Amino acid sequence: MKDIEALVRTNIQQLKPYSSARDEFKGEASVYLDANENSFGSPVTLPDGEGLNRYPDPLQQKLKEKISSIKGVPPQNIFLGNGSDEAIDLLFRIFCEPGKDAVIICPPTYGMYEVSANINNVSVINISLLPSFDLDVEKLLETFSPSAKLLFICSPNNPTANSFHADDVELLIHKFPGIVVIDEAYINYSKQKSAIRWLTEYDNLVVLQTFSKAWGMAALRLGMAFASETIIDYFNKVKPPYNVNEATQQLALAALDNMMWVNEHIRKTVALREELIRQLQLVSFVEKIYPSDANFILAKMKDPSAVYTHLAAHGIIVRNRSKVQLCEGCLRITVGTAAENEALITTLKIYQA
Ligand SMILES: *Cc1c(COP(=O)(O)O)cnc(C)c1O
Repeated sequence: MKDIEALVRTNIQQLKPYSSARDEFKGEASVYLDANENSFGSPVTLPDGEGLNRYPDPLQQKLKEKISSIKGVPPQNIFLGNGSDEAIDLLFRIFCEPGKDAVIICPPTYGMYEVSANINNVSVINISLLPSFDLDVEKLLETFSPSAKLLFICSPNNPTANSFHADDVELLIHKFPGIVVIDEAYINYSKQKSAIRWLTEYDNLVVLQTFSKAWGMAALRLGMAFASETIIDYFNKVKPPYNVNEATQQLALAALDNMMWVNEHIRKTVALREELIRQLQLVSFVEKIYPSDANFILAKMKDPSAVYTHLAAHGIIVRNRSKVQLCEGCLRITVGTAAENEALITTLKIYQA
C-alpha cells in the first residue's frame, strides 16, 4: 500500500470544500426553501415528467448504486464526471503541483492527457511505445521519480487499437510511486479483462471508463473513475458541486436498464470490425492493418493524406493520423454500421481504380 495522502498537493489536502444546500440537508422534506431554486417548476420537463428546477444529487447515489451492481465495485469507490475528461483534469488538480510536478504518457496515445497537462502547467515526460506498440517497460521503470505523479496508460490504446499485456500493466502499477491511470474507454470491445480487478490490491490505481463509446451516449457526457476510497474522496472534494446534471443521471439510469442493447451492439461492432478488416485487406493501396481490440481500426496505406481527402470529398470522414509518431502513413477508421462500412470500402475502391 502506498501513501496516497503524501502524493496530494498541500493546498488540496488543506482545502475546505464548498458545502452545498444538498450537502447540508440530505433527508426528505415537503418544503425546500434552502437553495434559492425556482419553486414553481421549469418550462420543460425530464423524460420522467419531473421538473428541472431542483439541483441534482451532488454525489449521484442512485446512479452509483446501479453502476456498483453492474461493475462489482462499491459506490464509495466510484466517481462520476462530466465525461472522462473531467476525471483526467481533476487528477491533475489533485496531484500535480503546477510548474513543479510531471506526468508520464506513452505516445502515440489519447491527446487529452497532454492537453490537460498543458492547461495545468504540468510537464509531460514522453516514453514512446515500442514499434510493436507495446509499453517500453524498461524505460518506464528507469523514468519513475517522486516528481512524476501520474502515469497514463490507455488500454486498449487510442489510436493504435491494441491492449497492453496485463503483466506489464500490473508491474507498472506495482512499481510506480505515484498514481497509475488506466483509461479503459474501449474495454467493452476488448478480450482483455478490466483493471478493475486490481483495485482491491493497489490503492494507487485509477480506472477510467465512459458512457461515450460502447454505451452509445457520447452526447450525455458521463465518465466513470474507479479507485481507492482515499482518491475518490479527493475527487469529491475538488469537483464542481453539481458536476453531473439531473438529465444525465436519469438517462444513464435508463441506459443501465438496457444492457441488452449495449451487449448486442458490442457483438455487432466486433463482428463488423472483423469484416471491415477483411474488406480493407483487399484494397490494393492498404499496406497494413493493425490488430484491433477497439471499435476502430488503424490502417497504414500509400498516400494517406490523398486518401483522406478523397474520402472527405465523398462525405466520409476518418481521422488522419499519418503525421503521428509510430503511426506514419495511417488513417484511423471507426467501425460504422454495415452500410457505412460498405460506403467506405466502395469509395476506397473508386480511388484505387
Ligand atoms: C473517447 C475516449 C474517451 C472518452 O472521453 P469522454 O470524455 O468520456 O467522452 C476517453 N479516453 C479515450 C482514450 C478515448 O478515446
